[in-house]
Amino acid sequence: MKNFEHVDARSLAEASRLLTEKPSVAIAGGQDLLCMMKDGLLEPARVVNLKSIPGLSRIVYDEAKGLSIGALVTLSELEEHPAVRQLYPAIAQAAGLVGSPQIRNLGTAGGNLCQKPRCWYYRGHFPCLRRGGDYCSAAAGQNRYHCILGGDPCYMVHPSDLAVPLVAFGARVEIAGPKGRRSVPLEEFYVPPRVDVTRETILRPGEVVTAIVVPPARGRISAFVKFAERGAWDFAVASVAVVVQKGEDGKLMGGRVVLGGVAPVPWLAPKASEALTGSELSEAAFGRIAELALEGAQPLAQNGYKVPLTKSLVRKALRMAVNA
Ligand SMILES: Cc1cc2nc3c(=O)[nH]c(=O)nc-3n(C[C@H](O)[C@H](O)[C@H](O)COP(=O)(O)OP(=O)(O)OC[C@H]3O[C@@H](n4cnc5c(N)ncnc54)[C@H](O)[C@@H]3O)c2cc1C
Ligand code: SF4
Repeated sequence: MKNFEHVDARSLAEASRLLTEKPSVAIAGGQDLLCMMKDGLLEPARVVNLKSIPGLSRIVYDEAKGLSIGALVTLSELEEHPAVRQLYPAIAQAAGLVGSPQIRNLGTAGGNLCQKPRCWYYRGHFPCLRRGGDYCSAAAGQNRYHCILGGDPCYMVHPSDLAVPLVAFGARVEIAGPKGRRSVPLEEFYVPPRVDVTRETILRPGEVVTAIVVPPARGRISAFVKFAERGAWDFAVASVAVVVQKGEDGKLMGGRVVLGGVAPVPWLAPKASEALTGSELSEAAFGRIAELALEGAQPLAQNGYKVPLTKSLVRKALRMAVNA
């Protein structure tokens, strides 16, 4: 690892200044950043510590405003928070399925949303469009863990478990930077490879995530399911979050179906989400929604298995949500 200076930021304004003065990166829990630096994938002159900024570690629930998750809230805190568990179970479930207890104790919500791709060609110094190379090694290479939706020219899968239920709940990301503050829907925070293959998020130089704001739960029910090759300490091969509302007639009143591990961004499945409205709570109806969720999937040579796998996760997530 190359030498770098480590500076504690005392405020958001100071963090923005420190991040723009010289080639710098922000650090929160360090669970991803330090891997990137040790592997020589990032060589900043300065590492700016966000944990020294007060006020970013709070979870606040307000019935009218919803849930505010500070960027420095750890995944363990999120998993264990009573209001999150009760009203936003899919978020608690996703936080609780990240990596291992050690990673969840240090890893933060903001860092989880901003972590870098896990594509083994990207991490392994192989030719990679995202890293400025002239072709994607995964397109014709070892691509069993790569994407089946929204790929081309880059087939990575978005690595954050937490982003999947947050998009399903319609969360917004609060951002602070040199030009002030802004707030964007989480699904617009991520940059699809067709728009810009070299960026994962819309963050501009000097900007940091300060919080994630989730609208009031208001009777919505939810579930998150994840399939990984190992029971723990593993990224999703595929995951699904559903957030739905049940009507008095026993049918669903709408909601969102979001897929993880199968696309370069958390994949909001629009037709499946629309089909929730008026849907019966039957296996046949859940099967139709699962088919719609995977409509348009274009598997690569080695990852066709992700299509039936993800369909079964959609059905399972719907069953879990309505039976909770
Ligand atoms: C072995 C292992 C297994 C893992 N398994 C999973 C898993 O199953 N599911 C999953 O989702 N993740 C997994 N991860 C990733 C881990 O969850 C994330 O790395 C962790 O949540 C990142 O949080 P952090 O605070 O440590 O981020 P850091 O490592 O500190 O930062 C990560 C990135 O985000 C940027 N960043 C951090 N905070 C902010 C902010 N507030 N604003 C703007 N940019 C910011 C940093 O500059 C850096 O680029 C795993 C990691 C490891 C090492
Ligand atoms: S899939 Fe994306 S990250 Fe992986 S090698 Fe191809 S361009 Fe790079």
